[in-house]
Amino acid sequence: MVGREVAAFCPAPEQSPATPDAIIAATMESIVSSPAAGCSFLTSTPERTFIPEDFAGDERLMIQAAEEFSRKEVLPLVERLEKQEEGLMPGLIRKAGELGFCGVDSPEAYGGLGLGKNLAARILEYLSLDASFSVTIGVTSGIGQVGLSLFGNEEQKAKYLPRLAAGEWIGAYALSEPNSGTDALSATTRAERRGDKWVLNGTKMWISNAKWADFFLVMAKIDGERFSAFLVERSFPGVKIEREEHKLGLKGSSTSRVTLEDVEVPIENLLHEEGLGHQVALNALNLGRFKLAAMCLGPARHAIELSSAYAQERRQFGQPIAQFGLIRQKFAEMAARFFAAEAMVYRTGALIDEAFQAYAGDVAGNRRAAEEFSVECSMCKVFASEAQDFIIDEALQVYGGYGFTEEFPIARHFRDARVSRIYEGTNEINRVFIADRVPKKLAGAPVQVDSFVSEQLARALERTPSSQVEAGALADLTILTYAEQSSRLRAERLGGCAASFHALFVNWANVEAARALSRLGLPSSLPASVKVDWDAVSDAVYTKRRIL
Ligand SMILES: Cc1cc2nc3c(=O)[nH]c(=O)nc-3n(C[C@H](O)[C@H](O)[C@H](O)COP(=O)(O)OP(=O)(O)OC[C@H]3O[C@@H](n4cnc5c(N)ncnc54)[C@H](O)[C@@H]3O)c2cc1C
Repeated sequence: MVGREVAAFCPAPEQSPATPDAIIAATMESIVSSPAAGCSFLTSTPERTFIPEDFAGDERLMIQAAEEFSRKEVLPLVERLEKQEEGLMPGLIRKAGELGFCGVDSPEAYGGLGLGKNLAARILEYLSLDASFSVTIGVTSGIGQVGLSLFGNEEQKAKYLPRLAAGEWIGAYALSEPNSGTDALSATTRAERRGDKWVLNGTKMWISNAKWADFFLVMAKIDGERFSAFLVERSFPGVKIEREEHKLGLKGSSTSRVTLEDVEVPIENLLHEEGLGHQVALNALNLGRFKLAAMCLGPARHAIELSSAYAQERRQFGQPIAQFGLIRQKFAEMAARFFAAEAMVYRTGALIDEAFQAYAGDVAGNRRAAEEFSVECSMCKVFASEAQDFIIDEALQVYGGYGFTEEFPIARHFRDARVSRIYEGTNEINRVFIADRVPKKLAGAPVQVDSFVSEQLARALERTPSSQVEAGALADLTILTYAEQSSRLRAERLGGCAASFHALFVNWANVEAARALSRLGLPSSLPASVKVDWDAVSDAVYTKRRIL
């Protein structure tokens, strides 16, 4: 397995520059000496970033175990999961918990594996070959636990984390309401103090895992004003799970309304502080966005694997359709977009781990660590979810009419992928957030121009956006800058066909950057595109069609 994920899109370099352990040691040294700051990619180009190929041997074994779990335990059950067969998903979560997958990055002291966020994300990527299982385990091990890990006191963590990390309990995160989605802080669920209890009333909407959850992290406003977070057990009287939503995709997952009618919550189940629930909710979402990006890569990788196998078997005009230039072009572009998304996500995960190394320990440090790379987390979420849509859409096209039927798994991937652009903050609100934060993070410092894309971003930043459309363009340029730089730094280290993936990516990113700039009313002249050997690039995908 070692190196299989590298070989996915790219044969390993002939000679590795250093052993994985040496790379980790060097990375850790730089961590301790200088924790990086959020958005520093805008002002300098690092000599070296973490790339997915840097996961060490023992880490790869864990990733391999996650992949095996997906292939052997989850994928054979997909049809039954989609029918919501009684007990099937909770049983799978328990099995995953026995292997440690339900608390990968939760503290060891409370039953988790205590691993870093980056490895946890990579493991989650490989647990995500089926998106319904992915969201179920992603929520219970991620936003269902992270608020507790970062902001909980000893008693709260000791009471709830071990059962969640073991997969004995399933967790859920209840923020959204019927009338407050994107505008989450306008929630109307109320909490009132009555003696030694909090009494909660309200309706939570779209709650993933609701049908199976034993534990809900619920956001409510004390006296209708002070936004706060509460630890609510399913067994508390007054917690009511409504009917399952009939969704476009993720049919094997559970999504329901949860109504709270005079639910009495012990006073000690207030998480963090009164009126500071937004810190819990938003930091869970920061890390959730990063994890969601990894969850987008899993199905995208699987879609490339499935469709490249199909393209080599399906014959038209006397030859495999894989040989046609326009099909080759699809695989090359899918691989290039995947290569950049993957580079960006695991670069970010390593930065988050650095921040946790440097700051975490108490609530203030945990909060700082979770916040430092919030812009990068948003960029990963937006870019990876859009790359996932592009890749799965093209993969379905490779199947022709068969792709439009439920007989092939690509239709399920197509339906399932759509929600990635909607939850964990829609891509629109993430763009608004990025555009708002970037000038603040820069604080007047100039953007370092190291590419055509970053040059366009520097030009865009010379003025303040005067509309949301302009802010969106600024966000797009920032995302493209981070993606291009991440892809380039990865390609420089790997060489070989990685360089071709990057060249292809740059051609695409430059055009996108010029389009974004035109939305700001600024002209730009595109550099000549790099010549691409489509056959070589698509052959690299075809030969390694298992990609993993
Ligand atoms: C399958 C599924 C699972 C989910 N799981 C959970 C969960 O476990 N827990 C939870 O709390 N929530 C969950 N959600 C809710 C999800 O987070 C929300 O759907 C999402 O935040 C969007 O809110 P909304 O649906 O109310 O859309 P709205 O907020 O009404 O947005 C509608 C459209 O308007 C746009 N828009 C809104 N405001 C702005 C703005 N200021 N600027 C520009 N555009 C804007 C949006 O981007 C979107 O395109 C889930 C949703 C789904 C579909």
